[in-house]
Amino acid sequence: MNVYDATRMADLLGREGYAETAEEADADLVILNTCHIRERAAEKIYSELGKLALEKRARAAEGRDMKIVVAGCVAQAEGEEVLKRQRAVDLVVGPQSYHRLPDLLKQAKQGRRLTDTEFDVDEKFDALPQPSRAQIRARGVSAFVTVQEGCDKFCSFCVVPYTRGAEVSRPVADILAETQRLVDAGVREITLIGQNVNAYRGPDDKGQEWSLARLLAHLGEMEGIARLRYTTSHPVDMAQDLIDAHESIGKLMPYVHLPVQSGSDRVLKAMNRRHTGADFLDIIRRLRLARPDVAMSSDFIVGFPGETDADFADTLALIREVGFAASFSFKYSPRPGTPGAERTDQIDEEVKRERLAALQSLLEEQRQAFNAATVGKTIEVLFEKPGRHEGQIAGKSPYMQPVHVSGPADMIGETARVAIVAAGSNSLAGRLVGKGEEAKA
Ligand code: SAM
Ligand code: SF4
Repeated sequence: MNVYDATRMADLLGREGYAETAEEADADLVILNTCHIRERAAEKIYSELGKLALEKRARAAEGRDMKIVVAGCVAQAEGEEVLKRQRAVDLVVGPQSYHRLPDLLKQAKQGRRLTDTEFDVDEKFDALPQPSRAQIRARGVSAFVTVQEGCDKFCSFCVVPYTRGAEVSRPVADILAETQRLVDAGVREITLIGQNVNAYRGPDDKGQEWSLARLLAHLGEMEGIARLRYTTSHPVDMAQDLIDAHESIGKLMPYVHLPVQSGSDRVLKAMNRRHTGADFLDIIRRLRLARPDVAMSSDFIVGFPGETDADFADTLALIREVGFAASFSFKYSPRPGTPGAERTDQIDEEVKRERLAALQSLLEEQRQAFNAATVGKTIEVLFEKPGRHEGQIAGKSPYMQPVHVSGPADMIGETARVAIVAAGSNSLAGRLVGKGEEAKA
């Protein structure tokens, strides 16, 4: 979501005459688009701001100006505190108010230091300009479209409901228009994104609410789209129509990211996840019925307050039962203002570290096994960019695995069938065997 927000900020500021630069030293304006999900992510911002403050002072000595903006969820959570803690910051702008950046920057040029952390999701999307064809092309053949923002779930470890606000779904017509524009400029893969993307309930022009499954079915008919994905889902919103969509929509990729966090029912309850381990396994059973080749990925947290060795063993058992293609896993990080942080039974850092290492070694074993199992199979690849070596092109399998083949650069943006000949630790190597089917599906 931060990648999506950053590109929308670039589109917005492009209209004001700003151009992106890869060199910090060239920038008249630096925006840090921040994440507040774990303490380390938030703390990194201040060390980065310290470096930028030195750069700003050096520039001022040469008579040049540089504006520093803190955007994203740290901006939302800490607001004016950021201005107090780092004098070099000019603006603090939350994830639901960055559409006001042009006006805020004008005020900053007059020497005002400002904070804007209002929640105006609808106003934000209406105010954001669409990127040009050239901008879309430069960003590649795969694009994100935000369909939903915010969260009403209040898991007891998580800051998202406080930083992104309540669940809001964008209207169907806006999503279709944004997607059509991307596809017209050559985008082949669309990933619908939201903090709880499967809680999507967006109105159409007649005021009828569409589910995510209905939206995906409609996009599945859009000419030019080769692949559809969605992320991130919550198990309680995994409705049967969405599970069925994996059977009926050929362009919907057989890969589902479904965070479970823990395999212990006791911990899941304490986390306020509102489902059990058995509920999660049942969703996967139904997904596999609908689409036997579906691959799963997930998020895990180790060391939530009160987590015992037995609870942790339940998590490992669930992982063994499912078999994940990939996963993200984290040590629990107490976040100010969340119920988890108030608990007095916090887990020792050393225990968290040991559990994370054990969990990650099991997940890594499963990821390698999943990759090795593709060797000898023929799979569809969507080519995205030139490969690292001359004459190579690189793309992704339906299961998000990077794949390299020898092939012509004009196949970038196309799908093709590839025989997988080897699995490395992070990517697959293959041989082109034919034109893709997905594009026609
Ligand atoms: N909405 C998604 C869901 O319900 O699972 C997840 C969104 S959250 C931005 C991404 C992941 O960050 C979570 O799935 C969780 O594993 C992790 N996370 C969130 N808060 C955390 C915390 N306090 N400590 C460690 N990991 C955390
Ligand atoms: Fe955070 Fe996801 Fe829980 Fe919402 S559902 S509070 S975003 S972990």
